[in-house]
Amino acid sequence: MSAKIILIIAASIALISSICVSSSDPGLLQDFCVANFNSTVVVNGYPCKDPLLVTSDDFFFSGIDQPRSTDNQLGSNITVVGVERIPGLNTMGLIISRIDYAPGGLNPPHYHPRSSEVFTVVEGNLFVGFITTNSDMGNTLYAKKLQKGDVFVFPQGLIHFQFNIGGKRAVATAAFGSQSPGLMTVTNALFGSIPPVPAVILAKAFQLNTTTIEWLQQQNWVQNFNYN
Ligand code: MN
Repeated sequence: MSAKIILIIAASIALISSICVSSSDPGLLQDFCVANFNSTVVVNGYPCKDPLLVTSDDFFFSGIDQPRSTDNQLGSNITVVGVERIPGLNTMGLIISRIDYAPGGLNPPHYHPRSSEVFTVVEGNLFVGFITTNSDMGNTLYAKKLQKGDVFVFPQGLIHFQFNIGGKRAVATAAFGSQSPGLMTVTNALFGSIPPVPAVILAKAFQLNTTTIEWLQQQNWVQNFNYN
């Protein structure tokens, strides 16, 4: 193999590596950067609190074991344990969440633009799945029935869901490799945006008439998560 080809391969690997690295949160430049919520400085994430004022409680949260209300039309509730609840998570590139499901409860199809998700069932039985991007083969659904102790991965940017099939309440945790994975719920985004997407566009996309689309746009697309 000529030196030129080796150089091209090496440069390609370096380029791919740099692309992979840039798909996660920026690296730490210090031991920690506890979020300063009072700063008026606008940066990527939150500015750092004075290290001399940092306490152990800045890295602490209690109560993830507490059941949350699932009294909404989806029958699910996502409790995000992120930087808003643990200021010491700022710049760490991590968050977790607790998800409660009523019997028949659904965490509706959604995706996270900035992180993959490691999902663990703590209690109950769930049917979960994700759908791949468009390809010549179409969109593939990877789905599985999960029980207590099972772990499943939802790849970054792919639409996924969890549905409680157990007939009793279910609980799961989700861990993310970003401080801010982002949450895009498909129904809310398409039918509940402000201002609305013109009905003619959605009617064409969904192969429905505009009356049906306008009915969908009038529904109350609830959010089932909380950060605080
Ligand atoms: Mn998710």
